[in-house]
Amino acid sequence: MNEYDTGRMLYHLEQIGYGPSEKRNDADIIIINTCAVREKAANRLFGHLGNLKPIKEANPNMLICVGGCTAQNIRDQIQKKCPFVDIVFGTHNISELPALIDQRIKGEKGICSIINDGFDHDLDKVKRISSFQALVPITTGCNNFCSYCIVPYVRGREKSIEPDSIVKSIKEIVSEGVIEITLLGQNVNSYGNGLDKDINFSNLLESVSGIAGLKRIRFMTSHPKDCSPDLVRIIKERDNIVNHFHLPLQAGSNRILEKMNRKYSREQYLDIIDNIRNSITSSTITSDIIVGFPGEERKDFEDTIDMVQRIRFGRAFTFMYSPREGTDASKMEDTVSMEEKKKWFNELLQVQNKISLEENEKFNGEKVEVLVEGKSHKDRKLLEGRMENNIVINFKGSASLIGKIVPVRIVHAKTFHMMGELID
Ligand code: SF4
Repeated sequence: MNEYDTGRMLYHLEQIGYGPSEKRNDADIIIINTCAVREKAANRLFGHLGNLKPIKEANPNMLICVGGCTAQNIRDQIQKKCPFVDIVFGTHNISELPALIDQRIKGEKGICSIINDGFDHDLDKVKRISSFQALVPITTGCNNFCSYCIVPYVRGREKSIEPDSIVKSIKEIVSEGVIEITLLGQNVNSYGNGLDKDINFSNLLESVSGIAGLKRIRFMTSHPKDCSPDLVRIIKERDNIVNHFHLPLQAGSNRILEKMNRKYSREQYLDIIDNIRNSITSSTITSDIIVGFPGEERKDFEDTIDMVQRIRFGRAFTFMYSPREGTDASKMEDTVSMEEKKKWFNELLQVQNKISLEENEKFNGEKVEVLVEGKSHKDRKLLEGRMENNIVINFKGSASLIGKIVPVRIVHAKTFHMMGELID
């Protein structure tokens, strides 16, 4: 969502004559688009601002702006600690950027424009970086209030974008050459909330998947509690919707799931996985997991390991719990020591990495379809692309293949990516 917002900022800046600068120090405006999901990102913001201070001192006409969720969350701190910041703006105020810049150029100081629970969305007003892939938001905000999460406080209540606007916008970008879209939302599965139409995420996927020329539809993120059998049916029926489900488990113990306010039990989560795997045998399921939540004990952590071993996620993003100020969990006693968190984290990582490798090795010798995204960052002689389940594949091939879906044979599966060879 943050990346999509950057595209919106670029669009609005282009409207008033700005374009990307080759070198940071030559820029007229520097915008830091922040994310508030992890504490680390907020800390990094002040590091970046510290680096920008001497540049601003040398060139006082350069505008320094801070946008995004963290700007929304700690606006006062930013203005107090870094008074040289010209503009602070929130996620619902991106379209105001030209007016805010104008105000600053005319001499206004300490500009801060933040609406906490707005809905500032125009799907046509975004600059796309890629000619063949696009992000398309369908909902913003979240109503779930998981006890550890800051998102509902900074992105506001859940709102859905009108289905007609979504379909119209996707048709347009597909006619311009886009073949893969990612539908975005904090919880795409609850799409339809806030609309006066009777429509859900399955209905929307059905309409979007019928758009001629659209080869791949991804979506993120899904809350397990809203992953309905109807949704699984549509994904099974439609070839252009990826068989990849990212379903954050977060914890394997019912006691901790309740404290996290996740609104499902481990048994319900297992039922959802069974339903997906029984319907779509080729599906890949990935997840997010937090260790060391307040009150978590060794036996709770072992429940998480048990779930990981039973479910065998293709991949899992693992995190050590850290409190986010303002959330319910931040008021709970952080009972797990950092030493213990690190120990559990490493244990979990070892278990999951072994599973990831074993699951990836099942693809050795298989032919898969890969959307070529560009040259590999690690080895510029190789191409890099993603198969349907979002795993990165590297292989030799001509740069003319970038932006195309090509057949590749997997020759060497690794833990986090795979090596392949192009099938002629
Ligand atoms: S579903 Fe939970 S974790 Fe996801 S954005 Fe909403 S509150 Fe945060």
